[in-house]
Amino acid sequence: MPELPEVETIRSSLAPALTGRRLERVEILDPRLTRPEPPELVAAALEGERVADVRRRGKYLVVVFESGRHLLVHLRMTGNVLHPAPEGREDDPHVRAVIRLDDGSDVAYRDVRRFGTWELLEPNELETYFAARRLGAEPLGRSFTAARLGRSLAGRRAPIKAALLDQRAAAGIGNIYADEALWYAQVNPLTPAGDLDEAEVSALREGVRKALRLGIRRQGATLRDYRGADGRRGRMQDEFNVYGREGEPCERCGAPVAKTRVAGRGTWFCPTCQERH
Ligand SMILES: [Zn+2]
Repeated sequence: MPELPEVETIRSSLAPALTGRRLERVEILDPRLTRPEPPELVAAALEGERVADVRRRGKYLVVVFESGRHLLVHLRMTGNVLHPAPEGREDDPHVRAVIRLDDGSDVAYRDVRRFGTWELLEPNELETYFAARRLGAEPLGRSFTAARLGRSLAGRRAPIKAALLDQRAAAGIGNIYADEALWYAQVNPLTPAGDLDEAEVSALREGVRKALRLGIRRQGATLRDYRGADGRRGRMQDEFNVYGREGEPCERCGAPVAKTRVAGRGTWFCPTCQERH
């Protein structure tokens, strides 16, 4: 499932290819992508729009148009945006949409599990949209301070791992980077979020940023489906400290990595350096 580093990797290669380009033809082949909006309506509305920028907010790709509209793309489980569209896409049953740009190249949206979404917002709807979803701070942004993180965790009884996953404390963290961040911070994933002391909150902020930055540098983690927009695999999976490493030695202390479940998700941690207190 793409998290912030994977989405950022896709964004950074799409931005130079799309910025300044006009969408000449848009085909949305799967009605699930835009529902409840009819796909042909969304496709018609997108045709003629010119891309001003490609941004990211949490796990959302945000295509900014010169008209002030925004296309929000959420990749969910297995979505991906590919440019240039790979050869043989006409025969690929997982391609759900194709955009022809005014330079003659195609962008393909591919999604095996079909949970991804496209939403076209009118000008000035973006902030309301994110506020309604209580989307938290950008963890790599300047406003993501330890004080702010502490305030958003205060009083919460949910395990800290669950609090990181629900996007309110910080946007863009999923299962992989939550486990890696908690390992860096030496915080047990089951600790009630509101019980973290000041030093732990501060360590967690650093851990979140460290894990996400490393993920971006390695162009994301490819476990199954994820690819960059250029079709390349990420390399972050070679650098996990705990994620998916049950029974293997902790990179810090050598104790075997343990696995538990938090919020229904497999959760890996070092029982020695992330001891519960
Ligand atoms: Zn350890």
